[in-house]
Amino acid sequence: MFNTSATDSVNTYDAILVGAGIMSSTLSVLLHELDPDLRLLIVERLSSAGLESSSANNNAGTGHAANCELNYTPVQDDGGISTTKAFEINKSFEQSLEFWASLAEEGKLMPKTFLNKLPHISLVFGDKDISLLEKRFAELSSHPAFSQMEYTMDHDELKDWIPLVMDGREKSEKIGATRIKRGTDIDFGSLTRSYINQIEGKESIEVDYSTNVENLQQDIEGNWYLSLEGEKNKKIVRSKFVFLGAGGGALSLLQKSGISEGLSYAGFPVSGKWLICEEEKSTKIHNAKVYGNAAVGAPPMSVPHLDTRWINGKRSLLFGPFAGFSSNFLKYGSKLDLFRSIKPTNFVSMLQAGIDNLDLGKYLLNQLTQTNKDRIETLKTFLPLVSASDWKLSIAGQRVQIIKKTASGGVLKMGTEVVTSSDGSLAVLLGASPGASTAVTIMIEVLNRCWHEKMKSSQWKKRMLELFPSLGIDINSNHEALLAIRKRNDFLLKLI
Ligand SMILES: Cc1cc2nc3c(=O)[nH]c(=O)nc-3n(C[C@H](O)[C@H](O)[C@H](O)COP(=O)(O)OP(=O)(O)OC[C@H]3O[C@@H](n4cnc5c(N)ncnc54)[C@H](O)[C@@H]3O)c2cc1C
Repeated sequence: MFNTSATDSVNTYDAILVGAGIMSSTLSVLLHELDPDLRLLIVERLSSAGLESSSANNNAGTGHAANCELNYTPVQDDGGISTTKAFEINKSFEQSLEFWASLAEEGKLMPKTFLNKLPHISLVFGDKDISLLEKRFAELSSHPAFSQMEYTMDHDELKDWIPLVMDGREKSEKIGATRIKRGTDIDFGSLTRSYINQIEGKESIEVDYSTNVENLQQDIEGNWYLSLEGEKNKKIVRSKFVFLGAGGGALSLLQKSGISEGLSYAGFPVSGKWLICEEEKSTKIHNAKVYGNAAVGAPPMSVPHLDTRWINGKRSLLFGPFAGFSSNFLKYGSKLDLFRSIKPTNFVSMLQAGIDNLDLGKYLLNQLTQTNKDRIETLKTFLPLVSASDWKLSIAGQRVQIIKKTASGGVLKMGTEVVTSSDGSLAVLLGASPGASTAVTIMIEVLNRCWHEKMKSSQWKKRMLELFPSLGIDINSNHEALLAIRKRNDFLLKLI
């Protein structure tokens, strides 16, 4: 560790944000909007922002709003459909839209550089899944938030919605689908860079690329000291507040921080692969994100989907993800990441989570042994007439699933979790899903937990209301407010 008594001359900031992915960049813009004088330092180990999980090549770019993701409406033991998570995610995504709309209105963000309107479709095959989809449709579409959802089993209508998917199918095949036209595809890498570009160069903002945060330590006065290692030099920086938005690197930094809240956590990496098609004869015809059902044992984010994507403005098709296993916690990380994260405090919970998730183990093993021919066979369930030579395999980002200590051992969690130190001086984002789409809501949570005095001040309250006109209103129970905020967001983000 380093000697904090000899650090009087170190650069001091109001906040240090580790990592330049969608999470840190969202928080840095929020903090800057709330108080432009705050001195912020963003530290990123790679040469630019948004190159890890937030890069458009590494994630699916779905604006997760629970329009089509069947895993957000799980089937309960009594056969009913639970919609709680779907409403929560839908509301949270609207908050992201609201933030982007406000920044766009002020000329700080250009929606067309990262956001495209795209229908979101759920697609299932066979009587059992069709019956569940019908239940989901009935539950969701009766509520204003999902009232625009359409349902069909009609092949002619489906041919209109998803012509490529319907090509070559027998009329007798049982297929059910729902559609919400107001869905989105998002280039989160581009959004991350837009956020950073918007604040970089301001007097109060510093961004250090190609700089790794090696270690961090808190002194008795509550200051955090971070040791940074750049390509040419090493330095120590200081702040009263640190956000670890380091993606897969966050767990290791949380462990190094030594805060007791970090002792309950371990991580399990799941890697991903996509099939990508750039052939215009296909990319021009398919215009939707089409989500299917997950295989038994598959983690929820491994639901197969066929997506229209815009990456750096170029239109393509993506199918996957195919899960895999690599012990890296970051795509550009080290194979030792997983092994280094195993500590006496989390070993038992990892073991327990492993025993409780044997289906996941089997699923990953099966995915690991797949050949490209197998992957094309899976794609054929979506595109019966697929031409294999049009599709190339590409490596996606890493997701580190959270394993959390419980009284009975440990549990594998599929969502994201914000961990904060008891004094609110350190906040850490762990986990993966629904991820980037809900970054704005997650960062507001960080502000409420760690900057609560400031959040109560009239200056911050006023600016929050300018950025989020629906703040404090539950749009899930206030129909008029829901319509008003959607109208504003659609207009300012050109989603009409
Ligand atoms: C296959 C896949 C599909 C996905 N699909 C979707 C989707 O459709 N929709 C959606 O909303 N989300 C999706 N996600 C999730 C989403 O990509 C992530 O939740 C989000 O990008 C995480 O952002 P982040 O800023 O936390 O992490 P990252 O983007 O990974 O950024 C973390 C940054 O921290 C840096 N860093 C790490 N350690 C250090 C260190 N010690 N010092 C300095 N810098 C460090 C890294 O280099 C990196 O740039 C998907 C993810 C994957 C992997």
